[in-house]
Amino acid sequence: MEGIARLVSMIDEIWSRHMSKTKFLQGKIAFVQGGSRGIGAAIVRRLAAEGAAVGFSYASSVEKAEALADEVRAAGGRAYAIRADSADEAAVRQALRDVVERFGGLDILVNNAGVLPWGSIEALPLEAFDRAMAINVRSVFVASQEAARHIGDGGRIINIGSVNADRIPVAGGAVYAMSKAALVGLTKGMARDLGPRHITVNNVQPGPVDTDMNPADGESAARLRALMALDRYGRADEIAGLVAYLAGPEAGYVTGASLNIDGGFSA
Ligand code: NDP
Repeated sequence: MEGIARLVSMIDEIWSRHMSKTKFLQGKIAFVQGGSRGIGAAIVRRLAAEGAAVGFSYASSVEKAEALADEVRAAGGRAYAIRADSADEAAVRQALRDVVERFGGLDILVNNAGVLPWGSIEALPLEAFDRAMAINVRSVFVASQEAARHIGDGGRIINIGSVNADRIPVAGGAVYAMSKAALVGLTKGMARDLGPRHITVNNVQPGPVDTDMNPADGESAARLRALMALDRYGRADEIAGLVAYLAGPEAGYVTGASLNIDGGFSA
């Protein structure tokens, strides 16, 4: 009896070791629009750590992008960086086609690239409005349309919106809030369009996250923290965790949703 118990416990241990090594995105191919820094870089790392081959774009951070791709490859993953300004329709479409060609398909698109135009409506230049719309909204349409031509049934599209779509508690963020609110509707409509192919489309809405865009020691940080249930900024890897869940097999029934991950900013 003792021998059998020992054997069962050995099998148990081998099985749990095997399960902990199972990567739930093994064999999947992902494209992250805007992946060189901040939340996007954390998403690239996490998807690659779960086994996905990841292509990602950036606008100008060549060194950071190449260093990230090297880091993923050194850890045994597959990644490559491609310069493609999200405001440039042709560049975005080409970047997606490059990923499809290089890795042999597409399963997951993450639209993360974003800019933060800041200033009162009384003074904000029209160029800032147009640029925010081009990067925060139009590029999501363009990349999703191109992805829809290549992505297989059961694929995933994940947009990175913001809690500011629902709540903008300080002055100066009207255009940013509008651009992120646009993603709520775009996500719902795309979920309907692509539902028949079992492609899910979701919108992750972070609260304040410590990145170059919104540093935890920046001038408005204390004011933002005071508005939250948890008195701290989020970390980029926490956002990446939700993105990985939405990209994975357990999230097949979640679609058209805008999901807050915000330390209670909107509670
Ligand atoms: P960062 O400014 O730290 O990083 C932005 C990333 O997007 C970089 O990789 C950047 O590339 C890329 N990017 C920006 N513009 C373009 C472009 N025109 N073409 C291609 N890539 C581009 O931002 P965060 O990581 O903080 O933000 C990521 C997303 O999360 C954004 O959509 C943002 O609105 C959203 N968000 C952020 C929050 C926060 O508190 N940080 C809160 C809620 C939402 P490059 O390095 O080349 O410039």
